[in-house]
Amino acid sequence: MATIGHTLIGLSLSETCPANARTGRMPYIWVGVVVFSAHVVDLVEWLALFVAPPHWDKHFLTQSPWMALGVAGAICVAVAATTRCRKPWPYLVITLAVLSHLLLDHHPIRALVANAYGLSADLRLPDYPEAIAAELWLYGLVFVVTTLLVSWRRREFKPKTRKLSLVLAVMCLLAAAARSPWIWAPVYMLSLLHCALMWSRRMDRRYLWSLVPLLPIAVPPAFDLYAMRLTDEATRLREAKLFDAAIALNQRILRMPARKSFVANYLELARSYQSTGAFDLAEKAYLDAREESHIYGTFMADFFLAKFYTDDRVKGTPYFQPRKAVKLLDEIIRLSPYPDHQRWASELRTQLRQKGLIDPEPAELSPPRFSVP
Ligand SMILES: [Zn+2]
Repeated sequence: MATIGHTLIGLSLSETCPANARTGRMPYIWVGVVVFSAHVVDLVEWLALFVAPPHWDKHFLTQSPWMALGVAGAICVAVAATTRCRKPWPYLVITLAVLSHLLLDHHPIRALVANAYGLSADLRLPDYPEAIAAELWLYGLVFVVTTLLVSWRRREFKPKTRKLSLVLAVMCLLAAAARSPWIWAPVYMLSLLHCALMWSRRMDRRYLWSLVPLLPIAVPPAFDLYAMRLTDEATRLREAKLFDAAIALNQRILRMPARKSFVANYLELARSYQSTGAFDLAEKAYLDAREESHIYGTFMADFFLAKFYTDDRVKGTPYFQPRKAVKLLDEIIRLSPYPDHQRWASELRTQLRQKGLIDPEPAELSPPRFSVP
């Protein structure tokens, strides 16, 4: 989930609705309502997992625009009932904020953002710190430029100040094109400082009400972070050969209402079972890891499954299947977009050949004794 992206797009959208398009209690809580709407898909999905985990896919709403529209409708009804706002614009902005979530979380879009930022040539999802930088770069640009344009259009500010807003907007676009954080980050910050100084006199403490709708959206990321921390702990337990404790901890994490991928936990579980000799459970956990994940985790699970099928410990059991292993490794080398996976798979394949567990490659076969004239 693109948490930073959702927040920045929510903030940008909230600015597109002028204050006179809203009425009553709306002005002070408005920004919070739109940012909440930009995150609400994550919250609803998390609540569904919390209430009845086995019945829901973790991304059932992200994949369904109609259901997301229903959620947007529910927020609009709640806003209409509490603020009695009759103008259509705020409701349109709320709906756009909810739907923007689907776009931002869509895998090809996330890969495209990473690609546009120059993180990778292929369409793969970047790791965490890189993904955050790419989101700040692109969605930060949207937010800063929207804020500058809104400031530029306000006639109550001095013409010089307004013109400076426009100049800064152009500078932000140029800085973003450079794609270096050393260039875009200071220009974005400078622009935000300029806007903050422009708007500071109009600030009112009552705007702090906007923080209220933001409280619930912090809950799902908190669970994800906690689950990630426990996963590190489970890895440490397995590495310390405390397999039973590692298994128990991973099972506990898998029962948590976290929206992060559980592929690492299934892999940890499988490796611990493998070490304790519970091969049936190990194989099942490897297959669960495949099911759990999209492309990255599936190839990871295949790699560890190939290792499992050729492990010395499973020799003499039905789980010793070098042919199946080599098929998996060949698939990784052929299909995985991740160079690391390809390298690991070809290294393991070479090791298996050296051990004589699988047939040598055609090129490695000894030349025919009788050459055809
Ligand atoms: Zn999300």
